[in-house]
Amino acid sequence: MKKNYDVVIFGGGLAGLTLSLQLKKENENISILVLEKREGDALDAAHKVGESTVELGTHYLREVLDLKDYLEEKQLPKHGLRFFFSPEHKNDIDKRVELGPRELLPVPSHQIDRGTFENDLIGIVRAKGVEVELGAKVTATEPTENGHSTIYSKDKEEINLSSKWIVDATGRNSFLKRKLKLKQDLDHGISSAWFRIKGEIDVDDWSENKDWSSYVKPGLRRLSTVHFMDKGYWIWFIPLATGNTSVGIVADPAIHPFDTYNKLDKAFEWFKKNEPIVYKNLIDKKEDILDFKVLKHFAHSCEKLYSTERWAITGESGLFLDPFYSPGTDFIALNNAFVGDLILRDLKGEDIDLRINVFERTHYAWFENWIPIYQNKYKLWGKTQTMVWKIFWDWAIYWSVHTLLFTNHGYTNIMVLRNLFAKDNCAGEKFGQLNQQMQKLLLEWGEFDDEAFENNYIDPFDIPFLQDFHRGIDEQHSPRELVKKVEDNVKILEHIAVEMFKLMSRKVYGTSMNLKVDPYIMTLSKKLNENENGLATDEGIKNDVAVMWFYKG
Ligand SMILES: Cc1cc2nc3c(=O)[nH]c(=O)nc-3n(C[C@H](O)[C@H](O)[C@H](O)COP(=O)(O)OP(=O)(O)OC[C@H]3O[C@@H](n4cnc5c(N)ncnc54)[C@H](O)[C@@H]3O)c2cc1C
Repeated sequence: MKKNYDVVIFGGGLAGLTLSLQLKKENENISILVLEKREGDALDAAHKVGESTVELGTHYLREVLDLKDYLEEKQLPKHGLRFFFSPEHKNDIDKRVELGPRELLPVPSHQIDRGTFENDLIGIVRAKGVEVELGAKVTATEPTENGHSTIYSKDKEEINLSSKWIVDATGRNSFLKRKLKLKQDLDHGISSAWFRIKGEIDVDDWSENKDWSSYVKPGLRRLSTVHFMDKGYWIWFIPLATGNTSVGIVADPAIHPFDTYNKLDKAFEWFKKNEPIVYKNLIDKKEDILDFKVLKHFAHSCEKLYSTERWAITGESGLFLDPFYSPGTDFIALNNAFVGDLILRDLKGEDIDLRINVFERTHYAWFENWIPIYQNKYKLWGKTQTMVWKIFWDWAIYWSVHTLLFTNHGYTNIMVLRNLFAKDNCAGEKFGQLNQQMQKLLLEWGEFDDEAFENNYIDPFDIPFLQDFHRGIDEQHSPRELVKKVEDNVKILEHIAVEMFKLMSRKVYGTSMNLKVDPYIMTLSKKLNENENGLATDEGIKNDVAVMWFYKG
């Protein structure tokens, strides 16, 4: 083993291992050491959460890291996210409003067994020349004249080495963040308990109703990340390639106190009370449970992520918000894109001061944009219309801007970032404001959304603008075209917001569907009058939005 590296990565979890692969793919001559404290192989199935990927993170794994063949051979294809609402019908899955794709989505995603994946990734990165030291716990690091010296312990020995760069990817241990006192608390106390259970669980088997089963081809419901939802919580079911199933509860402690489900027996009592159909279908399998884990108040932030002193923080070690929509791998992908770009340029001798500044600002802007998607929203989780509205809005912004920018390398292109985020009245600024506005509006609308709905199947691909945004993820644009495309998408989002608002406002105040509305000042706290600067009706979007409106009139 050498004593001097270009890059030493602390932590060989998803973030650390994928970063090492990304760097090696770009430059095979870089010397990289990954220090992972776990000794030996990770367990199949019962290892970590982070099993469901969505489009952005999947693009990173499949295309940026070239793991497409591996994922197709060794992990499961995912049939999108699937949600069961209508908490009024908790005993009858076939009466609940269901939202999810019927057909396999054109842009793929995966269900990943994290134990198998991390074991396999170690083999993949070693084959590329990355050194991975298992049973190696980082205990100290100090800056030196040219980089850093680091100490780790292995087999009771202390080993000292040096490197130009260090990257902290120690997950919740947050080694560097703690050392540099960069931790920032987040006012979002959501907590979770989860377990893996032997064998496959297919919610298709939970009803004898053939009409209901036939909405989706046999076997496809099981491949989705299935969510059961009511006020203050959601439950996940994720299938794993090892033939097991991951099940979790995620809840707002203000509505479901953590100590009501933080032990296995309590979790089953909690199911019995809150999701009896889940209880009924799991209770006989209790003996087959492989593990049980909990995490309280997992959202956290960090004051700084990248430094001119050649350190960086990636993955859950830096920022984490909420697992609803499965965005954990997305955050890793974005963070690694920034860190990889900085390291590669620095090692080539480029000045990276400006990039550090721009990337950090962009990353925090991204994170800030995600916070209102979750914060204070769990009280809406039991409202069927509000949640259908919200999920479609959240997907629209995620596919049309967040993911599109990533798949087109926009986040590391200074020209693109400058045009979209640094100019007066730029599209990025509008996008942020519009999302804040919509999240506030959905909260207001939740107060009026009091009707129960049933027997409704809704597919995101029934809605043309969502279909276009989703398909658009895979289109490649030049940097200039990308800026234009994002600007155009923000204009479409403005129209979507306005058409959604008009339906809500008509229901609450009886206002006209021809009302001209400024999307940046919409509210349901009072009746809005015609605004001559407002947007005129876009008939196409009006019709698309109507597909996801359940109220009569
Ligand atoms: C309830 C819940 C559900 C989630 N569901 C999803 C999901 O469905 N999809 C998704 O994409 N994401 C999900 N996530 C997020 C996902 O779990 C994380 O994004 C991901 O696991 C973070 O990976 P990481 O590599 O940063 O950290 P980790 O996977 O924790 O890896 C960190 C590694 O560092 C090692 N380490 C720690 N300290 C040291 C040290 N001092 N020296 C050496 N090594 C060290 C650890 O052993 C570990 O292997 C979920 C999160 C939660 C809380």
